[in-house]
Amino acid sequence: MKLSTKLIHAGVEPDPSTGAIMTPIYQTSTYVQSSPGVHKGYEYARSQNPTRKALESALAHIENGKHGLCFSSGVAATDAVLRLLVPGDEVIAANDMYGGTYRIFTKIFERAGIKFHFVNMQDAAAIKPYINDKTKLVWAETPTNPLMNIVDIAALAAITRERKILLCVDNTFASPYLQTPLDLGADIVLHSATKYLGGHSDVIHGCLVMNDDELRERLYFIQKSCGAVPGPQDCFLVLRGLKTLHVRMDRHCSNGEAIAHWLRKNPKVGQVYWCGFKDHPGYAVASKQMRGFGGMMSFTLKDDSVDAAMKVLSSTKVFALAESLGGVESLINHPASMTHASIPREERIKNGLGDSLIRLSVGIEDVEDLIEDLNQAIG
Ligand SMILES: *Cc1c(COP(=O)(O)O)cnc(C)c1O
Repeated sequence: MKLSTKLIHAGVEPDPSTGAIMTPIYQTSTYVQSSPGVHKGYEYARSQNPTRKALESALAHIENGKHGLCFSSGVAATDAVLRLLVPGDEVIAANDMYGGTYRIFTKIFERAGIKFHFVNMQDAAAIKPYINDKTKLVWAETPTNPLMNIVDIAALAAITRERKILLCVDNTFASPYLQTPLDLGADIVLHSATKYLGGHSDVIHGCLVMNDDELRERLYFIQKSCGAVPGPQDCFLVLRGLKTLHVRMDRHCSNGEAIAHWLRKNPKVGQVYWCGFKDHPGYAVASKQMRGFGGMMSFTLKDDSVDAAMKVLSSTKVFALAESLGGVESLINHPASMTHASIPREERIKNGLGDSLIRLSVGIEDVEDLIEDLNQAIG
């Protein structure tokens, strides 16, 4: 089955008791047993819920994986993966990634005895010097947030496979419509389904997808033991969002392309970070591993002052000033003070994320209105 068909049908069966075409929101905490231990596969809703199960199955299909597991947020899914590790273990993580991932690594798991190496992964071989017997996990995000750098997933996987190190790829920015990391050799795919999968800025949700049965059992044990599970209503919203992922992503990509090129031609704009430019350093890898370049981009102004950036950030009328991304509506954001404020300033600057960088999540509105809005804001 092709992805567009899977997005609408995978994992979802008509409800066995009524024939309802949409998976009902099973708003229940427990399930009646006919005698102790005799039940229909559902005992208690932290461990199993039919709405969640339908979503987990759908997510597994669309990421070309065998198993899906859902969590109450993207960071709860991150937390579950890190709980596979024990004190003394080491992780190699990208040096340019979601601020909340950096925060949970450095503020929660470093204290619990896990060691992190933050490495520029634009050249996959750069991780090699950091690998030793304690290395258990490599954590990559591509395209990266917010600088849109590209990491070669297959090249990383070639290194991690040989050493039996787990490779987890945060696929939030690309979505499975544009990129399927398990096909490229990753062991775990992570999503903040809050973003493109949900797609309507109305739910907080996270998920993991994997192929290995034993890894699934370990992560399922963590999911039910630690309990960061999503409610059935949230699962329903993500299931509903998935059904239009392909049509939304096509528009995100075409609007994104038009805006990236328009920004580049604007005399007041400095650098534009978008992985679809032919002269982007990651273009060749992006063209190989992605099916489109998406609607995420960042830019600076020629006047590289924070004041000038602030003026643009507070003057857009269609682009809403807000954290988050991947919804139908366009958002504008100041990473240094918003999404990436949890990364220490020196660390940020060292990795190229300056104080005047502006990030856009291009939505699916009419592109002429979006360009007109940016034009009046940039002035
Ligand atoms: C938002 C985001 C997360 C965290 O997800 P939440 O749903 O907000 O907990 C992780 N990774 C990336 C790339 C994100 O954009």
